[in-house]
Amino acid sequence: MDKSPVTKRIYAKIFALLERHPEGLRWSELLSKIKAGDESFHPKTFNGYVWKLVQRFPDKVYKPSKGLFRLLKYKSVKMEYKKTAKKTIWKTCSRGHKYKGAGPCPVCWPGQRLKRRGKSGNL
Ligand SMILES: [Zn+2]
Repeated sequence: MDKSPVTKRIYAKIFALLERHPEGLRWSELLSKIKAGDESFHPKTFNGYVWKLVQRFPDKVYKPSKGLFRLLKYKSVKMEYKKTAKKTIWKTCSRGHKYKGAGPCPVCWPGQRLKRRGKSGNL
């Protein structure tokens, strides 16, 4: 089984993905990325591969936390998982409403956005 081309291909793919994500990848992310690239791929098979990943490559992969896989060579790189990704900056207006985006607080100034669109007909 170890020598099957499928096994090789899957592991090569897993390592390529981990290579691109020094912060590590979760099980589900690995699965969806591999599925996206290979239509013939069965999640059940994948299950087995990932289970054995750390066991088979203890010198290459480790699990910083449950369900998270990361290359050993990135272990010394300080990077917290996904903390920097997709950060939404929330603002708080003087009355305490939380909102995001440019412009004034949409709760205090509900008309502000409509006016900008230039629809003055129904005023
Ligand atoms: Zn407000």
